[in-house]
Amino acid sequence: MHEKSIPFLLYGGDYNPDQWNREVITEDIKLFKEAGVNLVTLPVFSWARIEKEEGVYNFGWLDDVLGKLWENQIYVCLATTTAAQPAWLSGKYPEVLPVDIEGRKRTHGMRMFFCVNSYKYREKAAAITRQMAERYGKYPGLIAWHVSNEYGTYCYCDNCEKKFRKWLSLRYKTIECLNERWNTTFWGRIVYDFDEIRLPTKMNDDYRFNPAVQLDYMRFMTDSTLECYLNEADILKEYTPAIPIFSNISGFIKKLDQFKLAAYMDYAGWDNYPGPRDESSFPALKHDIMRALKNGKPYLVAEQSPNQQNWQPYNKLKKPGEMRLIAYQGMAHGADSSLFFQLRQSIAGQEKFHGALISHGGSNDTRIFKEFSALGKELKKLNSCFLGSRIRSDVGILFDWENWWALELASGPSADMDYLEQVHTYYKPFYKQNVPVDIINLKKELSKYKIIVAPLLYMIKDEIDKKLAEFVMAGGILITTYLTGMADDNDRCVFGAYPGPLREVLGLTVEETDALYPDESNTIRTNKNESYQCGFLCDIIKPETAEVIGEYGEDFYKKTPAITCNKYGKGKAYYIGSQLEDDFLDKFVGRICREQKVAAVLETDGNVEVTLREGESGSYYFILNHNKKAAFVQLGSRKYQNLLTNETVEGLYKLSHFDVAILKELNYSSVNQES
Ligand SMILES: [Zn+2]
Repeated sequence: MHEKSIPFLLYGGDYNPDQWNREVITEDIKLFKEAGVNLVTLPVFSWARIEKEEGVYNFGWLDDVLGKLWENQIYVCLATTTAAQPAWLSGKYPEVLPVDIEGRKRTHGMRMFFCVNSYKYREKAAAITRQMAERYGKYPGLIAWHVSNEYGTYCYCDNCEKKFRKWLSLRYKTIECLNERWNTTFWGRIVYDFDEIRLPTKMNDDYRFNPAVQLDYMRFMTDSTLECYLNEADILKEYTPAIPIFSNISGFIKKLDQFKLAAYMDYAGWDNYPGPRDESSFPALKHDIMRALKNGKPYLVAEQSPNQQNWQPYNKLKKPGEMRLIAYQGMAHGADSSLFFQLRQSIAGQEKFHGALISHGGSNDTRIFKEFSALGKELKKLNSCFLGSRIRSDVGILFDWENWWALELASGPSADMDYLEQVHTYYKPFYKQNVPVDIINLKKELSKYKIIVAPLLYMIKDEIDKKLAEFVMAGGILITTYLTGMADDNDRCVFGAYPGPLREVLGLTVEETDALYPDESNTIRTNKNESYQCGFLCDIIKPETAEVIGEYGEDFYKKTPAITCNKYGKGKAYYIGSQLEDDFLDKFVGRICREQKVAAVLETDGNVEVTLREGESGSYYFILNHNKKAAFVQLGSRKYQNLLTNETVEGLYKLSHFDVAILKELNYSSVNQES
């Protein structure tokens, strides 16, 4: 079947008309139009407004709003409204309410406060979804369906327990197999029947959950959430097979394996809320993870804030130009939308101080409205030119949700374990050098890459060990680190030496791992006679065939190997035994990229980001100056057009602070034919 796609670059965001009267709505739509909004997402939280009592639907007010939007040629992303069930539903059918990890049955009140396995919730959610699809399936302004909102509620109710037992019996077939895989002989937790299995809650485990059980529970919750999503998505598909369907992923994405969920969505869509003090590389990494979810297909930025985020401890304002910069960073990494939460600021409620296109003042005469409108004009001028274009990369970084869970569920070796932050550490040197990176999951074909980075590849599964060995044998470069090759997919440690099945390709074993306190450090001296600080963890390494390229400078393992390189077939496998300072990683990655002929998209001053999107209509260089001062980029002798200013540029190009350029190479097709 033809891949479902959106027809143009989406600009706009969430609007909650049920919070406003008709005069305000009329005025809002006028202001949306003025601001260049071409898409509105609604009605995300309107179930209670639409279905006042069971089976009685009132769509009149929504018909009105949709009519007005369409009169103004503003398209919609229609939500199924199921993110917050009505109070009558929770009251009449209390089984829809979740039970938390403490064993507390929660009461009605919060959004996303339902059990994803509740049959009654699914029945009622399906009913209103069907109503929406029947009523609005042929609405001309419908661009996409938005199922629920930011899934991620875990539940520990009796129904979930029953379903978990069933799920386990399908996965392990026999109770003997489950006992073996969970290693239940530890602390005498053997079970003789699937019905003896309890959900891992604080009712039965005070502080040290069995990671094998927790891991399976997290897999189960991912599968349960997927079923809950499909409960609605399948109905939408039935009515509108050509309309793309997705659900927006919360910026906090740990709880559910998003590779699994996104496989059933037409787009990956996520909510991008960088912290005011985040390095620009951190949202860049998250954007690249989103692009990975559908194997490189452009994704949607479903939410971001036009200004402050009210749930941050300090509601830092975005400085002039910052919203535009953040919006273009998404597009630079492969997003085909720039959507915001929200278009009008709520007058009250939990997010009343969250930034919005239209603030409480209600006018177009605000800094944010003007910046938003200016961006809207720019995007209109760009005319969706880079829509559907893709990013090419010679570097892959392995990223795996189950590995994330296992590393952070483990008691040890360090309380400071933060997998996402660790992956960020190894992403940053490529980012700083403008070398494009694909985030890849363990199932991905590796042969197209020249360099694979596998940070903390703790869990070996999906035959990743064999694939990495083949990759290196054929000439690839593998870079991996501490906490690699230690466990199987049930978090059982390898029998024999670490790094288990990667021992031969890395040419070493790891005998022990020392955890350092945050105020402690060690040093590593390299064979180039350079010295660097290191910390977090220090592996004690015994090389077999690997060459030592760095040694510890202190402690009882002074002068033992800390960094190694093993020639294997036509390639090399590097092992980094401790977390080194950024300066080392920048030089190390720079050298490997040069050796492998992996080039920067363009060379720039520090903290100027460059990406390249390529499509049928040409190549688009996104240049983003994250600095608070002007910076330079070397364009060389080729000529480009800056699509945002229409100027022709070449040579050393200057960008003022927070500025963005989108350059299209002139004579693209003839250049391409020559090469
Ligand atoms: Zn439940």
